[in-house]
Amino acid sequence: MIRKSVYALITLLGVALLVAWLNRDALVDRAIQARLQQGPDESFTDDKQHVRVLICGTGSPEVSAAAAQACTLVSAGGKMFLFDVGDGAVHSLAQSKIPVDRLERIFITHFHSDHFHDLAPLINTGWIWGRKTPLEVQGPVGTKQVLDGLAQAYALDEGYRSANMPHLKKNRSVAFGVPLEVEFGEGQRTIRVYNKDGVTIDATLVAHDPVQPALGYVLRYKGKKVFVSGDTEVSPVNFEAMRDADLAVHESYAAHMVRRAIPQMKKLGMHFEAEVAERTIPYHADNIALAKQAQEAGVKHLLLTHLIPYPDNFVVRRMYTAGMAEYFKGELTVAQDGMVLVVGDQRASPVNDKHPSRPPNNDESGR
Ligand SMILES: [Zn+2]
Ligand SMILES: [Zn+2]
Repeated sequence: MIRKSVYALITLLGVALLVAWLNRDALVDRAIQARLQQGPDESFTDDKQHVRVLICGTGSPEVSAAAAQACTLVSAGGKMFLFDVGDGAVHSLAQSKIPVDRLERIFITHFHSDHFHDLAPLINTGWIWGRKTPLEVQGPVGTKQVLDGLAQAYALDEGYRSANMPHLKKNRSVAFGVPLEVEFGEGQRTIRVYNKDGVTIDATLVAHDPVQPALGYVLRYKGKKVFVSGDTEVSPVNFEAMRDADLAVHESYAAHMVRRAIPQMKKLGMHFEAEVAERTIPYHADNIALAKQAQEAGVKHLLLTHLIPYPDNFVVRRMYTAGMAEYFKGELTVAQDGMVLVVGDQRASPVNDKHPSRPPNNDESGR
């Protein structure tokens, strides 16, 4: 009986393979068509009611399993704003099917390399794939210097491609970004840098000494407020930006873990690593101090990103937020690359399951 079933199965399989072989051209054509028809993710531009967030990078300069360094996409009123674009960010945006030629503006928080490594591919890719207007890059003083340098570095590429493609030649100014530098007056800490169609974005000085200036950004739309911290220690200067935020996308540093690791590093002869760890503690946001400040400021949802040390396994992930829930009573999430959320839906933090960098442990609450 079993043998008969096996024969029947083999025959069936043989027939199926024969049919596939006879129709191979049609099948290949259909696969090509399906691939060509894979469109971009329109949800960020179609949704004009909500503020939506894609975490496109959760890493830091530390070599880690994170797919990308600093990168946060926020959409409001159907426009997409990108905050920082570290190494791997463009790849991560592509994995989430974000049409990079349609970004409204880029906002750089500061010029540590893990926040702007991918600026060049972002500008270049947008130009090649059909962007019609030059990309505006907002950032602290220094933005022009960086964009001028990139324009010089990419001048040859621009020339070659323009010579080959008439549409690129017509749009050759799009090959380079437009710098918009934020300059603060005496005693000024916050400046409105975007105000259009109900969306406002303020640049605000944060505390990341010796990096000066270092900026955070506050986006408001339809009564919702999002604070993107950039790199900052926990400081009273950030309080107003955090106050009553529906969502704070905040850098995070598990200092209790780093402090515990330093003596072990020294024991193992890893003196360089120990020194780096010691030097980075003071200018990043210690998780416990951050939990206290977020609670005091009335933050509804605290989303941790720029994760140090990177919680790339179950044990580190469990330890990462230890003690925070004692002080912060709102929603707490440890971000992952590819995570999407709608601001206001506090429990809704679905991870884009197509994103390959997703860690195996899908415990998003992080508590
Ligand atoms: Zn950084
Ligand atoms: Zn930094």
